[in-house]
Amino acid sequence: MNSLNINTNHSLQSIRPVGRFAPSPTGELHLGSLTTALASYCHIKSLGGKWLLRIEDTDTERCDRQFSEQILMDLKALSLHWDDDVIYQSERIDIYNDYLSSQLAPLTYGCQCSRKSLAQYWERHAILENANSHSSSKNPADTQRYPRCCIDANLDKNKHKQRIQLPDYAIGFMDGIQGMQWHNPQQSLGDMVVRRQDGMINYILAASIDDGLQQVSHIMRGLDILPMTTAQISIMHAANLPAIDYWYHLPLIRNPDGQKLSKQNLAQPIDTSRPSELIATALQLLQQPTVEMDTPARMLEQAIEQWDNTPLQNKLSLTIASS
Ligand code: GLU
Repeated sequence: MNSLNINTNHSLQSIRPVGRFAPSPTGELHLGSLTTALASYCHIKSLGGKWLLRIEDTDTERCDRQFSEQILMDLKALSLHWDDDVIYQSERIDIYNDYLSSQLAPLTYGCQCSRKSLAQYWERHAILENANSHSSSKNPADTQRYPRCCIDANLDKNKHKQRIQLPDYAIGFMDGIQGMQWHNPQQSLGDMVVRRQDGMINYILAASIDDGLQQVSHIMRGLDILPMTTAQISIMHAANLPAIDYWYHLPLIRNPDGQKLSKQNLAQPIDTSRPSELIATALQLLQQPTVEMDTPARMLEQAIEQWDNTPLQNKLSLTIASS
């Protein structure tokens, strides 16, 4: 089946827009992840669509079932009710492996490079570069892409980590918030690891396959993932999965001191004991028209009716007002 057929099926099957929220349960929700949930919910509901919940828990070292349960409880407390059953990626490993051994097999290869051997490679490379040129204008990130040392080594993919070849040309997509984007995934990311040596499936592979299989049409997520979007587009295309129709990357949320809210810098978990206040705060942060204080469900109804992406357009970050 070629991609034209698949796309035709897709447009027949998903006339109703499909959005999703796909948290990784490596911690509780914080105001940053809550705004992503709320924005994707209100936006897709304003289009009359379905909002799916997918728990991205393939990283068994960092994810915890307790956090998944807490996320579900928090969403329920805020009346952010999802459609269909929750999907847990940890229960879908066979599906990802099937794609690796079928549609994606021609693009993947085993790799035995360790962090240490790559660091040595780049060190040697930098010394040679310096010796050959007087220019220091090169961005170190440009030279730290995987240098494809193992591409022709024909290593057993089941005994080594697997990388996927990403295209070396610019791919464009229209982002409904950040505007037109062009990225060359080979130049910016290199051949990404999609499966670790221990069998762990990496985020980019699992998310690409599930967004395709779940017939997601609208992806609204944090700006921190935008650099990976053309890798996702390439993987979905190679896997013959239906393309995402609309992309939206939301501005990052910053503390009053300018620091990005994230689990890494210990952003405070949300407190759902006063759900209406929390929804009002998140809507204000998302620069949406005010809603009357009411039950969470009724506040969300108003927010859906008034939802507007315009105030978010071209913004890279939004800062929480200091209290
Ligand atoms: N699981 C990712 C996270 O929690 C989000 C992935 C996505 O929305 O594509 O950061």
